[in-house]
Amino acid sequence: QGAFDVQAVRRDFPILQERVNGKPLVWLDNAATTHKPKAVIERISYFYEHENSNIHRAAHELAARATDAYEGARGKVARFLGARSADEIVFVRGATEAINLVANTFGRQFIGEGDEIIVSHLEHHANIVPWQQLAAEVGAKIRVIPVDDSGQIILEEYARLLCSRTRLVSIAQVSNALGTITPVSEIIALARGVGARVLVDGAQSVPHLRTNVQALDADFLVFSGHKIFGPTGIGVLYGKKELLDQLPPWQGGGNMIADVTFEKTLYQPAPARFEAGTGNIADAVGLGAALDYVERLGLERIAAYEHDLLVYATRGLQAIPGLRLIGTAAHKAGVLSFVLDGYRTEEVGAALNREGIAVRSGHHCAQPILRRFGLEATVRPSLAFYNTCEEVDLLVATVRRLAHAKGRHH
Ligand code: PMP
Repeated sequence: QGAFDVQAVRRDFPILQERVNGKPLVWLDNAATTHKPKAVIERISYFYEHENSNIHRAAHELAARATDAYEGARGKVARFLGARSADEIVFVRGATEAINLVANTFGRQFIGEGDEIIVSHLEHHANIVPWQQLAAEVGAKIRVIPVDDSGQIILEEYARLLCSRTRLVSIAQVSNALGTITPVSEIIALARGVGARVLVDGAQSVPHLRTNVQALDADFLVFSGHKIFGPTGIGVLYGKKELLDQLPPWQGGGNMIADVTFEKTLYQPAPARFEAGTGNIADAVGLGAALDYVERLGLERIAAYEHDLLVYATRGLQAIPGLRLIGTAAHKAGVLSFVLDGYRTEEVGAALNREGIAVRSGHHCAQPILRRFGLEATVRPSLAFYNTCEEVDLLVATVRRLAHAKGRHH
């Protein structure tokens, strides 16, 4: 394992050569979506040029190639997550669809009137709204783990919320709004004490931290391909096999059945049971290529490099007068969130865009956690392994100029 050669890595991503407003693109919106290495773009082209077919149903050569490529990608996801088998991997559109799938299958099967679902104050709307919809339908209650002023969940408060009515704990491993890394191992261990299942929202963690579902003992884990250098429209639901096989299907149609008569339909076991209709075959294959790419770089090296960059960016931003960093937990990954005195967040975003710097400003689909800090919006630069110290310097210098323009220099 040599040093991380960020310039070599950047050459793998064609879009990083783009110019924006006459300036080189500085992509600091990785928590929203990531860019794709040539290996992924070429793998998808190869699929359409040499393998394209619907899967499983035909007796011809291209169907066999497409099926091999698709199932090969499923195997890559299983190995990447440390799953026991590829049967534990369901392809979906993304983290949002995966959570909705669990709410509509596990939720309807195992959560009833008076039961409780625990989420944290940090959650993305995708990990709040489906549970509210389910709770309204079945008469369940949502309980919320509070966070402290650093943006970390309060474990003792969580322990107090757990009870014999808790059926599910659904929690992000990394907050998309603040970057907090939550203690999911402890959360899962405590949930076991009351027999509750745990869903880990890995949308923001899987691209940055080594994930092993068996070591974690997660019941479900979800993530989106597009946040891990793969295509949009493809994502993953991991579920323990014995649990998936107890769940009813969600959508009905082709692919998911074993036998159909007008009287009765028999369903396939997981994962086919949850993959009704023609899925996003090419992009699943592209996701497999993205995971290969990330594995070649090495998640441990990625995590170490990004950690140093996050510390560097935190120091730079914190030194700017009038800047308030939101989310100062000891364990963080990928995300910086801040507000600047005298500016609306859109103004900061627009000023950065003029320099070619892409960040998100807004509520980041996580309104409850921003309101916990008295805010409706923040500016959110978010990092990936192709970002550099020079890019962070440009971000810091641009925000510093804005701060000084309001006359806050010493
Ligand atoms: N959970 C978290 C923590 C996220 O950051 C996101 C995406 N911002 C989602 C869920 C939803 O992912 P998607 O929009 O790809 O379905």
